[in-house]
Amino acid sequence: MSNKFIEDLSIRLAQRSKRQLIEGMISRTPHQVATEKAVAALQVYPLLLLLLAHDYPTKVWILDKGEKPSSAAILSPRVRRKRWHSTCIGVDDCEGLTDVVDSYVAMVVSWKTLLVMRHEFAHVVTTFFSPATRRKIERLYVDARAHATFTEPLAGESLGEYIACAMSYYFFPDLREELLAVDPALYNAVDEILGQAELVSQRIGQLDMGRVATPEPELNLAR
Ligand SMILES: [Zn+2]
Repeated sequence: MSNKFIEDLSIRLAQRSKRQLIEGMISRTPHQVATEKAVAALQVYPLLLLLLAHDYPTKVWILDKGEKPSSAAILSPRVRRKRWHSTCIGVDDCEGLTDVVDSYVAMVVSWKTLLVMRHEFAHVVTTFFSPATRRKIERLYVDARAHATFTEPLAGESLGEYIACAMSYYFFPDLREELLAVDPALYNAVDEILGQAELVSQRIGQLDMGRVATPEPELNLAR
């Protein structure tokens, strides 16, 4: 990864913290407890991925208990009518959903569990996968289908669910172990994706801090 690329990302970050990036994506929250749950859920993701998601932009709509996903104002009529998975479930049968709407990624999720929040954000993250990474996951998915090696039925529904389930499992020690046991190749792929994103994040963070520590010298203008 070139220094120029890292430098550009660091300028784009502009000293924002993970919390600021996450809060900046939330377009609606029912209350502060839900906001804090979202921050706790998403801050496990590397800074780079939060930055890319924030700037894409991504809009997060947090549902309160009893609210239906279709009530989220960030969804388009097309997404509200859409059907998902082999069972053709509708928008209100989901605990959360993520889709590209016009010029942004819309993520609608209840604040009930960290797992569901992390799962939906994994769908956001896959939007930024390189074609090479996408092809690699596709190969693993074909393999997993051939051997029916899925952590749960949802993971077998589509390529998107396959990687989103794996990525969200990765953040919980017990589920991570399960993923490693069921599909070690996918585990390694997720480990590599998040590991590389973390390394880039550290380099961006170092440059960003460097800018704070050593401010630009003032220009000595001729009178
Ligand atoms: Zn999903």
